[in-house]
Amino acid sequence: MGDQHETLHNPRLVLVAMTGLVGVGQAAAPSQETVRVVYAQLLAQADADQDGTISIAECKSIFSDRAIAEKSCRFWDVNRDGTITEDEYVERVMRVTKQKKIVARSSFAERPRTLNPEHCRAVYAALEATYGPQGWWPAQTPFEVMVGAVLTQNTAWSNVEQALARLTGRIALTAEAIMALDEADLADALRPSGYFNIKARRLRSFCEGFLAAGGLPWLGALDTAQLRRHLLEIAGVGPETADDMLLYAFERPVFVVDAYTRRVFTRLRLLRGDEGYETIRAAFETALGADVQLCNAYHALIVRHGKEVCRKHPRCDACCLHGGCPAAHEQDHALLTNARARS
Ligand code: SF4
Repeated sequence: MGDQHETLHNPRLVLVAMTGLVGVGQAAAPSQETVRVVYAQLLAQADADQDGTISIAECKSIFSDRAIAEKSCRFWDVNRDGTITEDEYVERVMRVTKQKKIVARSSFAERPRTLNPEHCRAVYAALEATYGPQGWWPAQTPFEVMVGAVLTQNTAWSNVEQALARLTGRIALTAEAIMALDEADLADALRPSGYFNIKARRLRSFCEGFLAAGGLPWLGALDTAQLRRHLLEIAGVGPETADDMLLYAFERPVFVVDAYTRRVFTRLRLLRGDEGYETIRAAFETALGADVQLCNAYHALIVRHGKEVCRKHPRCDACCLHGGCPAAHEQDHALLTNARARS
C-alpha cells in the first residue's frame, strides 16, 4: 500500500503503472475512487486546452520518453477519437487490472518452465475473459474439417476459405468426388490456399487413405490412440493436422499444438520452447484433462491471441497476460531503465 501511495503522488509514474508497464494491478487492483484521483492528477498536468479531457497530444507532452508516451496513448485511446474522458479512463483501467489479477496470482518468472494445471487454467481464464467464445471449427461437416486441416498447413485461414469455396463451386465436398477430379483441376481449385500442387497431392492422398479405411463410420469407431495412429499413417498428415482432425472432426480430447502455442507459452516461461510436439501436447492434456470443449476453446483462443496480440513483434501493452508475463516485464524493465536514465 505504501508503494501505491508513493506512486499516486507521482502522476507520471501512475500513468506508467496504469499502462501495465510496472504492473501495479498485480499487487492490488486500485479502487474506482483511486483511479478517479489518478485521472484528476493527470488532468491537472495534461489538460492544456482546459476541455476536461486528456488528448493524445497532451499525454505526449507530459512524457519525455517517446516509447512510454506511445504505450500510454495506445492504452487509453479507447474510442479512437484521440481523447479519454474520466469515465473511459476508469473503465479501461478497471478492465485491464481485472484481467491482470487473473494471471498474476503467482510470479511466472519464478516458475520452472513446465506447465501445470493452475498456470494453464489461469491463462485460459484471461484469454476467455478477453476474447469470449470463438466457435471453432468453422465447417459444416467433419469431412470439411478434415479437408480444411489439410489445406490450412502453411497458410492463413482466409485463403483456405477461398479454396474451399472454389472447390465446392465445382464438386460436392466428398472424398469420392475429390478422387474423381483430375489432379490439375483439383490443384487449380485449391490455388488460393498456396502450395496448391502439393496440397492437391496431399488432399488426394488423404482422401485415398480415408476411403481405404472405410470413411467416417470406420474411423469414428476407433479409439483415440488408434485413430491418431491411423491418421498419421496417411501421407501429408503430421501431428498438428491429425490433432486438428481428432479434436474438431471426431471431438476427441486432444490438444492441438501449433506455432502460436509454442510462442505464447515460451514467452510466458511456461515452456522452454525447444520441447518436441508430443511433450507439449502431453503437458497440456495432463493439465486440462479429457475435456473436449476446453481443448477446443483453448486452441482457438491461443490462435486468436497469437494472431492479434502475441505476434512476432508482440503488442504487450494490449495483452491481457501482461501482468504475469516475464518476457513483457523484461521489455518493460529495459524501457523504464532507459527512461529513468534519460530523465
Ligand atoms: S505480454 Fe507480450 S509477450 Fe507476453 S503473452 Fe502478452 S503479448 Fe505475448
